[in-house]
Amino acid sequence: MGIIVQKFGGTSVASRDSCAKVAAKVKKAIGAGNKVVVVVSAMGRRPAPYATDTLLDLISSYCQEVESRERDAIASCGEVISAAILASALKAEGLNAMSMTGFQAGIMTDGNFTDARISSIDTSRLSMLLEEGIVPVVAGFQGMNRSGDITTLGRGGSDTTAAALAAALKAEKVEIYTDVEGVMTADPRIVPEARFQKNVSYHDMAEMANLGSKVVHPRAVEIAMKSRTPLVIRNTFSESEGTVVDDGPISDVGSTVPDKPVSGITHTLGVTRVLIDISGKSGEDVSLEVLNSLAAAGISIDMISLFADRVAFIVSDKDADRTEACLSGMGFEFSTKRGCGTVSVVGQIMRGIPGVMSKVVKALRDAGIEIIQTSDSHNSISCLMRAEDVERAARALHSEFEPGM
Ligand code: ADP
Ligand code: MG
Repeated sequence: MGIIVQKFGGTSVASRDSCAKVAAKVKKAIGAGNKVVVVVSAMGRRPAPYATDTLLDLISSYCQEVESRERDAIASCGEVISAAILASALKAEGLNAMSMTGFQAGIMTDGNFTDARISSIDTSRLSMLLEEGIVPVVAGFQGMNRSGDITTLGRGGSDTTAAALAAALKAEKVEIYTDVEGVMTADPRIVPEARFQKNVSYHDMAEMANLGSKVVHPRAVEIAMKSRTPLVIRNTFSESEGTVVDDGPISDVGSTVPDKPVSGITHTLGVTRVLIDISGKSGEDVSLEVLNSLAAAGISIDMISLFADRVAFIVSDKDADRTEACLSGMGFEFSTKRGCGTVSVVGQIMRGIPGVMSKVVKALRDAGIEIIQTSDSHNSISCLMRAEDVERAARALHSEFEPGM
């Protein structure tokens, strides 16, 4: 009998009706002879009373600068509530279930509050419960550090919990249940023409997740890839098979020229572009000084371009004030542009396939969109632009490359 880890996102546990749908999925997997571990997210989205953002708003209304330890303490509650409720709902459906916090499920993390990483998992209690025929319902997104404090794993962290538990338990697969049919060629909320994909490779999924596709957390993909656990993205509210994320379609194996260079389009919003003038200061050391001091302040930067006379990069809008303070403190001349976004085309072996970049530039230019900056990798090309251009850009690139056809 194999183990399956089933993770249910916020919308899947938002109401009694949706919990009934969840129970049906769990029952079906058990009926097919599997042992099931359930991982849950917090119920619903802001302004739902126990959604993570609602809880964070609540604590912020008492205190402007909430300490990260306390922020994690409250942020972890949403999942604990879901776990207790879902375990009770499963019991009412005749299943033997038990709720658990991340720590009770054996999840230890490093000490990096709000974005902790899992350091180890002691599966003994989970294994014992499974042996006894009990369905553990684990609160996602959380663990405990070595001092015994509650930590959280960053936005979308329940996916990571599920993938990590699946790896530790040597599960047959991890199923991520959400509100879409599976992985599409773009976010269907902004690109209505986005197509469903039956099978996506770990590599493509990791790249898409890293470049903004929030259908699954990048760390969850990384863990699934490392442990070679198939990851299935499915809809709680339908019977469809979902998207299997594994080594990828057979046709890709061994071929060096993919039929299509682009397999998906992703986007992000809420980024700030920073441009620092370092002319007049001595080249390399200055760039290094900037990078070091931002790293020391814990500000993560992206799309970094170093030139002899300037340094350009992006930060999340929420880090913009701190970035400005840091650079002003160092005496730099700089400009910032808040409210930007990125759109990326993602595919296997994109570098070296002629003409992808020129097609990207042409499609955006034809749509009248200004590209502020670009960056590329082996598997992707990303363009920075104004936030209001992001939707149009994603659609324009989707129709230019027709991924998934
Ligand atoms: P959950 O709360 O279940 O974790 P999320 O909101 O984190 O759900 O993720 C599901 C959402 O991801 C979808 O509603 C969809 O808008 C978005 N999404 C972004 N990119 C994609 C994509 N390529 N395929 C499918 N959904 C995507
Ligand atoms: Mg999610």
